[in-house]
Amino acid sequence: MVDLQTQYLKIKDEIDNAMQGVVDAARFINGPDVAMFQSELAAYTHAAHAITCASGTDALQLALMSLDLEPGDEVITVPFTFVSTIEVICLLGLKPVLVDVLPDSFNMDVDQLENAITSRTKVILPVHLFGQCADMERILSIAEKHQLYVVEDACQAIGAEVRFSDGSARQAGTMGTIGCTSFFPSKNLGCYGDGGALFTQNDVLAEKIRKLANHGMPRRYHYDCVGVNSRLDSLQAAVLRVKLKYLDDYIAARQLAAKRYTDILSGNKGFQCPAVSPFSTHVFHQYTLKLNGLDRTCIMDKLSDSGVPSAIYYPMPIHLQRAYENLGYAPGEFPVAEELSQRVLSLPMHTELSEEQIKYITDILLTF
Ligand SMILES: *Cc1c(COP(=O)(O)O)cnc(C)c1O
Repeated sequence: MVDLQTQYLKIKDEIDNAMQGVVDAARFINGPDVAMFQSELAAYTHAAHAITCASGTDALQLALMSLDLEPGDEVITVPFTFVSTIEVICLLGLKPVLVDVLPDSFNMDVDQLENAITSRTKVILPVHLFGQCADMERILSIAEKHQLYVVEDACQAIGAEVRFSDGSARQAGTMGTIGCTSFFPSKNLGCYGDGGALFTQNDVLAEKIRKLANHGMPRRYHYDCVGVNSRLDSLQAAVLRVKLKYLDDYIAARQLAAKRYTDILSGNKGFQCPAVSPFSTHVFHQYTLKLNGLDRTCIMDKLSDSGVPSAIYYPMPIHLQRAYENLGYAPGEFPVAEELSQRVLSLPMHTELSEEQIKYITDILLTF
């Protein structure tokens, strides 16, 4: 689904030098590259604070830990997402309250949001799925009206931008109280292992998150709160400093690949191509089709026989998973998420896709 080797070979010298520098200095934990990457990432996103940690999952967990929530407090999110979004809510003894997603953007259906708010609701946690932002203008205004925090799951959307009706624009992860992203290798800004980051405009929260990510330790061997060990390795920070310089190029390459797919496929009733949002750019972490009346397994087999990978993100919404049975949701409660899980198909999407490869892939799809 991604071609990380070719991407590496194009920047091999820079990456190798950066990694060698960390090894030579033997500054593996909290080396200078970590601090420099955090300021470069803050500058790129225009966030007041960018705080790195060990993964996108940890970023979500740290965000919720920093908000002083009580067990049983409710976090509203969506069932059509990667499991981390909901896993961390449960791990912290909080209660996920789910609302369905929209059939075109696959993001939170904000029309259903206010109905889900109760006296225990503390957080709205939208997911910017596949690289396109949820309707943040409406989510932020509902959050303000009900005095709720907003934690953005921007793990798939770094670099995406929302345009607000006043003409201003803000990046994924920098609009809510806290935003979270992931540097998992296949993400749009991927490192060579696990990594993540949080964004906030709030100085007090930033301090708190830094402390929580480092054992709740403001000074060595003095602990203010129960924290975790969640740091970005210096080696990963060194890789990310190189790759951040290319992020805009990487986004442009993904957008060009997506345009090529859509130009070829959009005239066909069988394929619903990714929706173009009126308020958010799309950075195409995934290029995900919705199939209309076509046999998905058959298409995937035919692609696979021709050497083309494809994937289903996600084959089963979270509320139907065994691990989350105790949330008490039944089949049929989130019909859009359930239908999408039966009908979506993601095509190869990465920075190195050539026009020829896209023609090869779409020629196979067009036989259906
Ligand atoms: C990748 C991802 C995560 C988790 O990130 P990791 O770095 O793998 O822990 C969380 N939420 C979404 C939507 C993701 O795509």
